[in-house]
Amino acid sequence: MSQVGTLESGSRHDLHVGMSPDAPDEADFRDEEEGAFGYVHSYETSSRYDGPGLRAVLFLSGCLLRCSYCHNPDTWHLKDGTYVPAEQVITRLGHFAPALRSLDGGLTISGGEPMVQLAFTRRILAAAQRMGLHTAIETSGFLGDRADDRFLSRLDLVLLDIKSGDPETYRKATGRELAPTLRFAERLAAMGKPVWVRFTLVPGLTDDPANVEKIARFVAPMRNVEWVEVQPFHQLGAFKWKAMGLEYKEANTAAPSPDLIKRVLEQFRAAGCRAH
Ligand code: SF4
Repeated sequence: MSQVGTLESGSRHDLHVGMSPDAPDEADFRDEEEGAFGYVHSYETSSRYDGPGLRAVLFLSGCLLRCSYCHNPDTWHLKDGTYVPAEQVITRLGHFAPALRSLDGGLTISGGEPMVQLAFTRRILAAAQRMGLHTAIETSGFLGDRADDRFLSRLDLVLLDIKSGDPETYRKATGRELAPTLRFAERLAAMGKPVWVRFTLVPGLTDDPANVEKIARFVAPMRNVEWVEVQPFHQLGAFKWKAMGLEYKEANTAAPSPDLIKRVLEQFRAAGCRAH
């Protein structure tokens, strides 16, 4: 059992490691039905980027992917997060709720991967809905099979990271299989759940035209996908890999050029996606 800590505000770019050394391994973890406690990296209160309006963003610990370009490897393991009661998170959210509501915003739960701690995530989303807040998660979709209807009913929007369209490239980029993400996307499309697709453009890894084309053609017919967001790779997370003693394969990868970003956006638009 991890020691209960105190929720920390801050930034997704702060390094958090070793807060709960006794935490279980994220690969075997299933949180209990009520989700009364969870492992949290940090939270921000004024994002204009992770969903509509002004957002509080809660970054949870635990992820089963190992993206070679990950900006936050300190969110991979539950043991690096702070173990906090859901009620502490909910009380804190309540302080910001009036401002978030007045600016047409809400709560986004990101990570890490929020579906590692499914019950904890659901409990906080439910509380946010009771406060009249718009709710979203940012997810890779890899654990989408875990999301039951009760969980999905707590979501107004899914920010779905489709990290590649080509299964081989996906495996190379993340260490995992692409199929669960596509399955989750199809399920969200069938139920008409609003989705913003996110794609991280990493030169030399995800930028191949055929790889982009596969995502574009998959997403274009989905009427529930409101936007495709092309996110340029950056090096803001490089220091975390170094501090954690991890081998960072993208150490010499440059940010994509304006021309490359333009080409990729045009590919999405030519397929019929609204992309920015
Ligand atoms: S899914 Fe997100 S948190 Fe997990 S490894 Fe990839 S970029 Fe990092």
